[in-house]
Amino acid sequence: MKLAFTTLVLALAGCGVPDNHGYGWDYDARGESRLMLRYAPALQPSALNFAEASSVEFYESEFAWMQNCSQLSAPAPFVILVEPGALGTGGYYYQYPSLIVLETSSLGLLRHEIAHYLLDYNTGDLDSGHTSAMVQPGGCVSGPVIEPIPPIEKPGP
Ligand SMILES: [Zn+2]
Repeated sequence: MKLAFTTLVLALAGCGVPDNHGYGWDYDARGESRLMLRYAPALQPSALNFAEASSVEFYESEFAWMQNCSQLSAPAPFVILVEPGALGTGGYYYQYPSLIVLETSSLGLLRHEIAHYLLDYNTGDLDSGHTSAMVQPGGCVSGPVIEPIPPIEKPGP
C-alpha cells in the first residue's frame, strides 16, 4: 500500500510538468485562437518552407479543419518544431500538459498529432493504438487541404 501511495504521489508530481516535457514555455508566435507556436531555432529563415512552417495561421487552419472534421473541439494547442531526427518519429503528442512536437521535415504529421490531442482532450484516450477512424487512411488526417469557404449559391428557379 505504501508503494502504491508513493507511486501515486510521483504520478501526481508528474502532472502539470513545470518544464513542459523539457521543452519549456517560450513561443515565437501566438495566433488569434491562442495557438502557440515555437519554430526557432529548428526552422531557419533560409528554409524553403519557412513562410508556411513559421505561420501560426497554418497551424490554426489545420487545427480548425481537424475540429470540424472530427466534431471534437479543444483549446488551441501548443506546437513546437524541432530539427529533423530529433524525435525519431517525425512527430509526438505529449499528455499532461498537452504538447505537439513536430520535426520540421514532418509537418505532414500535424493532423495526426492533432487527432491524438483531440481524442485525449475529449475522451481521455489518445488512441495510441491508432484505431480511431480519424487517423486511418481516408479519415480526417487525410482530408483535403483547407480551401476558403465558397459563397453560398442562390437556389435555382
Ligand atoms: Zn500516432
